[in-house]
Amino acid sequence: MTITGTTKLLGVIGYPIEHSLSPVMHNAAIAALGVDYVYLAFPVKPAEFETAIAGLGASGVQGFNLTIPHKQLILPLLHETSEIAQAVGAVNTVWRTESGWHGTNTDVEGFLAPLQHLKRNWSQATATVLGNGGAARAVVAACTQLGFKAIHVVGRNPEKLQQFQLSWVRSPLTPPLSVYPWESLSIVLPQTTVLVNTTPIGMHPHVDQSPIREADMALLPPEAIAYDLIYTPRPTKFLEQSAKQGLKTLDGLAMLVQQGAAALRIWLQQDVPVDVMERSLGL
Ligand code: NAP
Repeated sequence: MTITGTTKLLGVIGYPIEHSLSPVMHNAAIAALGVDYVYLAFPVKPAEFETAIAGLGASGVQGFNLTIPHKQLILPLLHETSEIAQAVGAVNTVWRTESGWHGTNTDVEGFLAPLQHLKRNWSQATATVLGNGGAARAVVAACTQLGFKAIHVVGRNPEKLQQFQLSWVRSPLTPPLSVYPWESLSIVLPQTTVLVNTTPIGMHPHVDQSPIREADMALLPPEAIAYDLIYTPRPTKFLEQSAKQGLKTLDGLAMLVQQGAAALRIWLQQDVPVDVMERSLGL
């Protein structure tokens, strides 16, 4: 890959951003395709976010991803926001148009791609989602799109849980949603088809922690799927426990690759080599 005066710029904006795996996987795909692009990481502090977005606009940047803490801050700066991003209330992918920046949320597509790969009928399925933060919103939108019969969201803060439920009232999506306090886990686990961890419990460096006690894990049906959004370590304690119980497991790295592939398809307007992106991250 030779960078010249015509090379077009893509990137990811976050703070901090040094840990991001996105430059590795995007540049691997760009090199395999032989297109004249490069993808870089931009550390942008929240206080400088608006100035940075105006600067990217003025300097011809073609598109960018957003990660913590910028996924909501971008919303008022967009000319157009996709319906799915409005439903989730967050944008992770932005591209340039003649009228201004357009944004969408590819975390939804990223989350559901590994489930679609299983080629199951989800119309009788129940998702139990641990946590009610930003990623949980993308998971609820994805399970709604897949046609899940029920979605249980389990959280530790009753006020935030209630706000989470209320926030869908004005949304273009109508998820089959119920919310539960953490103490009700033993009630929802036996009805669960897919158990999703969207909390950071078990993430590096707290690798010996799991959101679920081993005894509670045994309440899951034997055909249940355990899906952890965390991708460091691999596997997490949660997925280790699930595998020990014979459950099918999915981790956050496949989701990360799929949300990136969906973004790259938007920017390049062509198919992208998902296998190259996977291999660049050791999948
Ligand atoms: P977030 O908005 O901060 O939400 C985290 C949620 O976890 C909150 O609901 C929080 O509860 C809950 N939580 C945190 N610690 C807890 C604890 N000790 N016990 C019970 N609940 C706890 O974060 P996010 O953006 O949703 O990200 C969550 C995770 O998903 C992170 O590990 C992130 O790396 C991962 N993620 C992965 C991908 C991917 O592509 N694989 C994409 C997005 C996110 P409160 O609301 O009560 O504070």
